[in-house]
Amino acid sequence: MSEIVDNIFKVVTQKNSGEVEFHQAVHEVLHSLEPIIDAYPEFRYHKILERMIEPERLISFRVPWVNDAEELQINRGFRVEMSSALGPYKGGLRFHVSVNQSIMKFLAFEQVFKNSLTGLSLGGGKGGSDFNPKGKSDLEVMRFCQSFMTELYRHIGEKTDVPAGDIGVGGREIGFMFGQYKRITNQFTGVLTGKGIEWGGSYIRPEATGYGLIYFSGNMLETRNETFEGKTCLVSGSGNVSLFTTEKLIELGAKVITLSDSNGFILDEEGIDRKKLDYVMKLKNIQRGRIAEYIEEYPKAKYFPVEHNRDSNPLWNVKADCAFPCATQNEINEIDAKNLIDNGVILVAEGANMPTNEEGVELFLDKGILYGPAKATNAGGVAVSGLEMSQNSSRLLWDRKKVDSELKNIMKRIHTLCLDNSDRYSTKGNYVDGANIAGFIRVAEAMIDQGYV
Ligand code: NDP
Repeated sequence: MSEIVDNIFKVVTQKNSGEVEFHQAVHEVLHSLEPIIDAYPEFRYHKILERMIEPERLISFRVPWVNDAEELQINRGFRVEMSSALGPYKGGLRFHVSVNQSIMKFLAFEQVFKNSLTGLSLGGGKGGSDFNPKGKSDLEVMRFCQSFMTELYRHIGEKTDVPAGDIGVGGREIGFMFGQYKRITNQFTGVLTGKGIEWGGSYIRPEATGYGLIYFSGNMLETRNETFEGKTCLVSGSGNVSLFTTEKLIELGAKVITLSDSNGFILDEEGIDRKKLDYVMKLKNIQRGRIAEYIEEYPKAKYFPVEHNRDSNPLWNVKADCAFPCATQNEINEIDAKNLIDNGVILVAEGANMPTNEEGVELFLDKGILYGPAKATNAGGVAVSGLEMSQNSSRLLWDRKKVDSELKNIMKRIHTLCLDNSDRYSTKGNYVDGANIAGFIRVAEAMIDQGYV
């Protein structure tokens, strides 16, 4: 890295000691931005990078709630308001045991670039809690959400900060939090996105991240005159992003053969068809079951439980044409990347945030794999959240066709932006550099216009 960028990274590691995920996210971006920082002295003069790595505001709070056994539970809540250069802070809430300040900050940092790429008026933020929704009753989840919102409400608002869902936060949790916000403030406003369709939601919001991922990936394949028809695909996770990714892939004639959760993965060589996907959607969203149950319904499929102390994930060692990591950060390491490459994968596109470690990304880029980084490929979710905010402020509900067509256009535009910027400043077809540079320039110019804030 150049001296300037190197010094900035040193400060990041010193001032944010132990925040390894945050370091990783910043390191990747700094690496991409070197040519821009060298070429544009105004970005150096205005200390854009130094400002962007420091959250505008970081809120951490106590979340007390009572479980069904009437025992008091204490969790930690976060909201990281990273940048409001382009609009109100926007980014999801994650409820997962692993949540900590480092994970919140890496997600908020990435969100700033992603939201910029959408071309919409959206700043970047992220939040959540180390609350584990798994195995909790609906009433426990409701009590937790109400307590979480009882503190969060004072920091958010339809014009200041508009959270959405992420891991562990779907329609049920958004509903409970919206209800509590309304009750405390006596306002029915678009303060959260991902709402129910009858009370301020948008069509295609649940589908948006997965559909957007496949629209973007379709654009990537087109650059090599390929389509999804007949392609064998690996999908990880079995949550919101994974299942709508699978749905769109099936619709486009691809064959999805894997799904997973944190306990293991299923391999169905015959392919997960519409009927099987409906079964998984019901299993996951209504019964809140585990993916292992799939083989009870479809005994020809195989189930592989997670092995502890493994050095690689066997899901990524299944032969396929395309791979879509849609579960969590760093789920593909360099061994997984090598396995995918050795098995002939031609496209890897990220549904999850930062699912590939830096060594894995380098391998994909070196080998000329069509590699789509999360900031660009999973931006469809926040894009439709932005469209939900537009519908809320005009009190209109657009039909499915309109939202879907807007989503397709936004993903196509992001794809073009990535390619144009990688052609101009980096290596042709390097979507990582293209996304980081395009996302950065828009935020940087807004920051210069707005003075030292
Ligand atoms: P969900 O909670 O709906 O699903 C998450 C899935 O990933 C579950 O199957 C879960 O399994 C699995 N998973 C989570 N953590 C781990 C882990 N540590 N190891 C293995 N599997 C794990 O979340 P989403 O689908 O909403 O989010 C998935 C990813 O997509 C995240 O990285 C999120 O940040 C990203 N994303 C989501 C967007 C959205 O609109 N929802 C938008 C943009 C990005 P289990 O049930 O066992 O935990």
